[in-house]
Amino acid sequence: MNDETLSAVDVRDAVKRYGDFTALKTISLSIKDNEFFTLLGPSGCGKTTLLRMIAGFEDVTEGAIFLYGDEIENLPPHQRPVNTVFQNYALFPQMTILDNVAFGVEMRGNSKAEARRRAGEMLELVQLSQFSSRKPSQLSGGQQQRVALARALAPEPKVLLLDEPLSALDLKLRKAMQLELKHLQRETGITFIFVTHDQEEALTMSDRIAVMSAGELQQLGAPTDIYERPHNMFVADFIGETNLLEVSVDKIAQGRATCHLGGGHELTCNQVDDIGVGAKVHMSIRPERLFMSDIPAEAESLKGTVKENIFAGTDITTIVALAEGPDFIVRTSNSDRGNKRIFEPGTEMYVNMEMGAGRLLVD
Ligand code: ATP
Repeated sequence: MNDETLSAVDVRDAVKRYGDFTALKTISLSIKDNEFFTLLGPSGCGKTTLLRMIAGFEDVTEGAIFLYGDEIENLPPHQRPVNTVFQNYALFPQMTILDNVAFGVEMRGNSKAEARRRAGEMLELVQLSQFSSRKPSQLSGGQQQRVALARALAPEPKVLLLDEPLSALDLKLRKAMQLELKHLQRETGITFIFVTHDQEEALTMSDRIAVMSAGELQQLGAPTDIYERPHNMFVADFIGETNLLEVSVDKIAQGRATCHLGGGHELTCNQVDDIGVGAKVHMSIRPERLFMSDIPAEAESLKGTVKENIFAGTDITTIVALAEGPDFIVRTSNSDRGNKRIFEPGTEMYVNMEMGAGRLLVD
């Protein structure tokens, strides 16, 4: 194997059990060098456990983890080319910002002068040089988080683990830090493994996302893959909003599946490899891939009545009671209002799907 094909982190059939409880059920995934990789899933799905196993704070019950081709099971945390940024910053309150950042570099056997030089560089990178001599309590939450980042980056880890590092920040600061983190990852070329339960944050920041639920990997892919082509019900429902219809598959030909709803209405959508004729599955249709009209479209149409329009600045969400099926949500971008129609509550109309918008899901 040469360096170009070597993964930064290789998790192979890793299982984690705490007594009788299995927190991770045979997870395998490869994280590429220089990648911004995100572990995404609801609380308790095992994201932190996997991160802690990579860091060396938890052992692996079964399977193995490799860092740049080397099995790391027997390496203590401080000997792994890995560093962690925690949610609560974990800065030393009595030390100055510069000393906080220099600490880890010195601990790894560098001189005090070298550690301080390196810390200075890192503080410049996160634009906090002017605060070098302050104590952590004299900085805002966002600034403290940037110090924590500088401190984790200073010893030049090959892999940086970030466990919900932005969750203590308010929404505006959080959005700004998301962009900063992404730039920082690009600038340093370090592999970032980021843990979050916030799907929007994951979509914005990541090169690839591993979606997890109940200790299992549900889907791994680029943000657009995960959003446009969710594999199963869990992923479709967890990532963004979607409309779900129960359908039966009647025919599959040339990459298209013909299905019908309970009342017999026929719809076609893209074929999905592991769903065959006769299957009773769900179809997912994203709200922004729908548009409303007083005439049915040539492609796919569902008859309904508008229940409510909800204005939210950039877009309008319309709740529609379908004649056949559950309520649907239709999202119309405010900038599209010239081309797309919005109907008053009580109006009968058709909800039309864009070509290829329907996606069958494995349960
Ligand atoms: P959150 O977003 O809430 O941090 P998470 O996805 O990171 O959740 P983990 O912290 O990895 O979840 O926990 C996964 C499961 O393992 C949970 O059900 C948790 O209760 C359990 N667990 C974690 N640590 C231990 C432990 N030391 N002993 C027993 N069970 C544990």
